Amino acid sequence: MAIQIKTLDQLKLMRRAGLVVGQTLELLRQSMKPGMTTDALDAIAAAHIKRAGATSNFLNYHGFPAVICVSINDEIVHGIPGARVIEEGDIVSIDCGAIIDGWHGDAAVSIGVGTVNSEDQKLMDVCEESMWRGIAAGKNRAKLSDIGYAIEQYTNSQGTYGILREYGGHGIGTEMHQEPHVLNFGKAGQGPEIVPGLVLAIEPMITRGSERTKVLGDDWTVVSIDGSRGAHFEHTYCIAPDGKPFVLTAIDGGKAELGRLGVEISDLL
Ligand code: MG
Ligand code: MG
Repeated sequence: MAIQIKTLDQLKLMRRAGLVVGQTLELLRQSMKPGMTTDALDAIAAAHIKRAGATSNFLNYHGFPAVICVSINDEIVHGIPGARVIEEGDIVSIDCGAIIDGWHGDAAVSIGVGTVNSEDQKLMDVCEESMWRGIAAGKNRAKLSDIGYAIEQYTNSQGTYGILREYGGHGIGTEMHQEPHVLNFGKAGQGPEIVPGLVLAIEPMITRGSERTKVLGDDWTVVSIDGSRGAHFEHTYCIAPDGKPFVLTAIDGGKAELGRLGVEISDLL
């Protein structure tokens, strides 16, 4: 399948979907507390997505039974919400998506519940910053692999972390998962050119130990093979027609975080 290039009007629809995702994740962050079940988080997300006039792209995706993935501690991605109770000190990774007028948004955050130990906090901080470095590197006229190169270089500069190999970012538009696949590691300067109208979901997944994973018996939940804790951050961003990036799932469009890295966001969206 060819890479889908979006018009400005299509990007504006994707911004609406992205904003619903960003707002849902912010609501979940505020709602998160020890003692609640992961099912309760899913219910909050489902209600918000509906209230916003959007639909879920996760629900029924290859049979997935919920509107968010909730992955705790050694679970890194694709956890299914259920009766599990969230505890103080947990790392809770939430992945969420929404559709408006057929256009998709996709984003994820890892949240430390209450007081988390400093190594877990650093794991989350490194993962989030690597995502922003990846987005900043994925500028107009860069090459696709510059993103993964930036993610890997930053992550490795911060300590010993396992960068998941089997999972990565992706194109997104009229489907949640489109070409191209975006690696979170590798050499710079390879792959397709990043051009205006390209929309990518950038999503580093790292652990405090092994990069190797296995899928649990529920056929969804991805855990680290060595039980080490993981983190996952994701944003959907585009290159606007003016050649500047805009983070469709960030409430501020990425202005603060990309600005800190010296990247100006587009004002077309
Ligand atoms: Mg996602
Ligand atoms: Mg994704």
